[in-house]
Amino acid sequence: MLLEGKKALIMGLANNRSIAWGIASSLKAHGARLAFNYVGDAIKKRVEPLSAELGGEFTFQCDVTDDAQIANAAALVKEHWGGLDILVHSLAFANREDLVGRFIDTSREGFRLALDISAYSLTGLCRAFEPLFTENASVISMTYLGSTRIIPGYNVMGVAKAALEASVRYLAYDLGPKGVRVNAISAGPIKTLAASAVSSLKDIFTHVEANSPLRRNVSTMDVGGTAVFLASELSRGVTGATIYVDSGFNQIGAA
Ligand code: NAD
Repeated sequence: MLLEGKKALIMGLANNRSIAWGIASSLKAHGARLAFNYVGDAIKKRVEPLSAELGGEFTFQCDVTDDAQIANAAALVKEHWGGLDILVHSLAFANREDLVGRFIDTSREGFRLALDISAYSLTGLCRAFEPLFTENASVISMTYLGSTRIIPGYNVMGVAKAALEASVRYLAYDLGPKGVRVNAISAGPIKTLAASAVSSLKDIFTHVEANSPLRRNVSTMDVGGTAVFLASELSRGVTGATIYVDSGFNQIGAA
């Protein structure tokens, strides 16, 4: 199996519709060992049974806005596993009011919050886990086309994803000498809890189905397949990249 015995920390599982669920299931199917975080008690109730379903070895609270919780996450991984082969960053947040209407109306606080949780957290986590990354470890983050194109309604999250993708490149440069690779998957729209906050999602979903080269939307398992590739030795020469798993929609110039 491609990932036999590899230790994978999945950050961002909320329920069985989460992209993190598709990724975790796929990594597991290829032999990876799993652990999960949850942001707070409400999500904990959902994450614990899902972790059990996939044979997850431990779960813990980690709200990425809190440096102490990030440090605690690294300490727990060290205690349980000694090292980390795969870090999956599949989390983001913006205030609902910042995902409707005009981007120009984004408040300073809404901007700060979205960028902190959705972009800075990857850097904070990579720094905390740097001493634990094994040789050839792989970091995978989740992004969206709204980083480089205007997707009406995606607004401040598009700015956060642009920062995230730039962070992926700089982190790839910093961690590259140790053999650690850092990449992003740019997924097409998928109906998840986080996506439900994006006011224009329904229209985007229909548009992708009608106009993408594959004429369909992607599933979390489609994303999971690419995550397995990025986590495995098969992608050993790939870092700092954003790989599109979106039925080819990003290549379309005219509908
Ligand atoms: P989801 O709601 O299932 O997952 C989002 C996760 O972020 C949740 O588990 C939530 O608890 C976590 N989170 C929010 N604030 C947090 C915090 N402060 N600390 C720790 N965790 C926090 O939704 P999803 O669509 O699976 O989102 C996963 C990732 O995929 C996100 O980065 C999202 O932007 C990205 N993405 C989603 C789509 C889509 O259409 N669903 C497309 C491309 C990229």
